Amino acid sequence: MPPNLQAENEALVTLASQIALEPENIWHRLASVAMRLCQAGSAGISLLDPTSKNPQMFRWVALAGAYEPYIGGTSPRDFSPCGTCLDRGTPQLYRYPSSYFTFLNAVQPPIVEGLVVPIYDAGHPLGLIWIVSHTDERGFTTEDVRIMTSLAHFSAAAWRISSVASDNARLYCIAQDEIAERKRREAEIRKLNTELKQHVQARTVELQAANQVLASQAEELARTNLELERFVYIASHDLQEPLRTLSSFSALLAKRYAGKLGADADQFIQYIVNGATQMESLIRNLLAYCRSGKREKTLERVDCNSILGAILYGMNLAIQKIDAHVTYDVLPVLLSDPIQLGQLFENLIGNAIKFHGAARLRVHISAERQDNAWTFSIRDNGIGIEAEYLERIFGFFKRLHSSEEYPGNGVGLAICRKIVEGHGGRIWAESTVGKGSTFYFTLPDAS
Ligand code: ADP
Repeated sequence: MPPNLQAENEALVTLASQIALEPENIWHRLASVAMRLCQAGSAGISLLDPTSKNPQMFRWVALAGAYEPYIGGTSPRDFSPCGTCLDRGTPQLYRYPSSYFTFLNAVQPPIVEGLVVPIYDAGHPLGLIWIVSHTDERGFTTEDVRIMTSLAHFSAAAWRISSVASDNARLYCIAQDEIAERKRREAEIRKLNTELKQHVQARTVELQAANQVLASQAEELARTNLELERFVYIASHDLQEPLRTLSSFSALLAKRYAGKLGADADQFIQYIVNGATQMESLIRNLLAYCRSGKREKTLERVDCNSILGAILYGMNLAIQKIDAHVTYDVLPVLLSDPIQLGQLFENLIGNAIKFHGAARLRVHISAERQDNAWTFSIRDNGIGIEAEYLERIFGFFKRLHSSEEYPGNGVGLAICRKIVEGHGGRIWAESTVGKGSTFYFTLPDAS
């Protein structure tokens, strides 16, 4: 049969454009071109299946003609016409191959003659392209070998291009996936940012509203406190006059009628005298408390040594009465209100004297500079205070003993706290029951 070069040319051009446009479908095209150009009964492409190892198999990736229904099937590499051809590395022509490769008996219609050509990619075996005739009349010639060899080369090129194309497609897919993932993350971050901003805005509005409420409550509280203090001050002040009358007349009553009205009356009068005295001291303290906050503080440079000296001089009788031993270190010069500072020392030393224990009372006053403040301490060896009351004693009217045990009305330490806090300081106490207490307060250093 003379070569039909025109048909061959047209077929090759079609194959070339097929490779360029759709490399994944090239195998079917190659099989049908092989069958058509060589006028075979069937044609096919068997590629080594990379997933099969032992035994190695060929997979029929493309079939044309009578064998088309066997597409996707497999055949063994060993003891097969294809395997033998791949081993030899050259085109092989088989006549009645099923007589010696018996598995081919299962394939219908039977093969009369088969031409098998190996496909190599850079010396690496890929598989084979083959044609078979099913009739005695058609035998293959050297011309068929030439055509099939050129199609085998074409197949190798197609394989290379299709694998590059599929690599590209894979890379493209990965890149697309990555871009999509990045976009998704960016969108998520944007969404979170917006949510966060909205949350912060909402929270800021809430906080501003809460702050406003707090500020107006604090203002209201300060106003009520001031009013209350003013009321306490006026009431205490106005109570002083009738109380003085009560106290002086009850004292007069006690003096003039003692022993004349009977034992009961003497006792009752004494109760009145005591009550009036107690009330006087309470009112005095209340007024002192109000004054310590009300009066404009006159801050001046105050030598704490001379203030303390004057206070101790004033307390000399009480100190001598119990033979107390009072000592102090050199104290600093500070910017403060001298009268309030004096009252602070007086209340704290007065308490040390009042709450002394069985042993001779020792009181020591000292001051230590820490950062920008002075910490004063007044240490005694008196009865001490239980740890659970160390905070509470600075409250108004907070006492740990009855006035029969120790006279007083629980205002002294409240006054101290008001004075110290008014100067921008802090007051607290440490104590061990039966061993003594130390009262500390801080005052800012004005030097
Ligand atoms: P008052 O002295 O009038 O009772 P204060 O406010 O000065 O009131 O003191 C409150 C309470 O703290 C006192 O009743 C007392 O129980 C306790 N206290 C204060 N100073 C001392 C001290 N140096 N030692 C032991 N207890 C003290």
